Amino acid sequence: MTTGKPLLDGRTALVTGASSGLGAHFARLLARNGARVVLAARRQDRIAGLAAELARAGPPARAVALDVTDPASVAAALALVPETIDILVNNAGIAGGGAALDMAQADFDAVIDTNLKGVFAVAQAVARRMAAAGGGAIVNIASITGLRVAGQIAAYAASKAAVVHLTRALALEWARLGIRVNALCPGYVETPINADFFATDAGKALIRRIPQRRLGRLQDLDAPLLLLCSEGGAYMTGAVLVVDGGHLVSSL
Ligand code: NAD
Repeated sequence: MTTGKPLLDGRTALVTGASSGLGAHFARLLARNGARVVLAARRQDRIAGLAAELARAGPPARAVALDVTDPASVAAALALVPETIDILVNNAGIAGGGAALDMAQADFDAVIDTNLKGVFAVAQAVARRMAAAGGGAIVNIASITGLRVAGQIAAYAASKAAVVHLTRALALEWARLGIRVNALCPGYVETPINADFFATDAGKALIRRIPQRRLGRLQDLDAPLLLLCSEGGAYMTGAVLVVDGGHLVSSL
């Protein structure tokens, strides 16, 4: 049955780390599908332009300053969004790669603070609001490295594995509140940030190890994200959705 309305008509969606990469793409996707998007990132000036772009083409959109590692910043950002938040895309994250033997404790901490504690802090603050409003959908952006390891990413892989398990734990606790919590695990997605690496011999060798023999494109994440955010995913919670061209099932 189709009502002719956009999929996310009348919903408000908060996207963290919306200033670049996947987060900016998700913000555009949600807005195209009718959601009022709140773009949240550390530098509000960087997302103000995108918010204006979205608002010109669709429902009202807005930018709020948010550092997911700072509880005061999380509280201040949410105070600027008084209406019901129906959808949270917990996307902010940092890479922090490097050999484990040489990794400084502060660098390890920074990855955990952002990718794990930041995800929890925003999920908890938003879920309190969702619980009062009768429910909502939370999508945590994890990674295939949360399910299988690679070299030089010990802190990142550990943080993403923790996000996968946190997703399941929160899904269990919050199902009775009408809040669905799912994880999206992208494989390697081509963005301007990694384009140089994938042009090198090592990058090309990595692509040959992906069963579909190509990198992910941002658009490959669209339908999976919309599924988890919308009524189509109404009976999905605690799910871990892998979108990786078969990378996790690559041959040993
Ligand atoms: P990106 O660096 O372009 O985006 C990360 C965003 O998070 C940026 O906007 C950054 O400003 C923001 N951010 C970082 N620390 C923050 C903080 N303390 N508070 C608020 N915002 C903060 O990288 P991306 O590739 O778009 O990554 C987005 C998410 O997708 C990350 O969680 C990443 O781990 C995940 N991911 C990316 C890929 C990929 O191939 N690009 C694959 C799997 C998972």
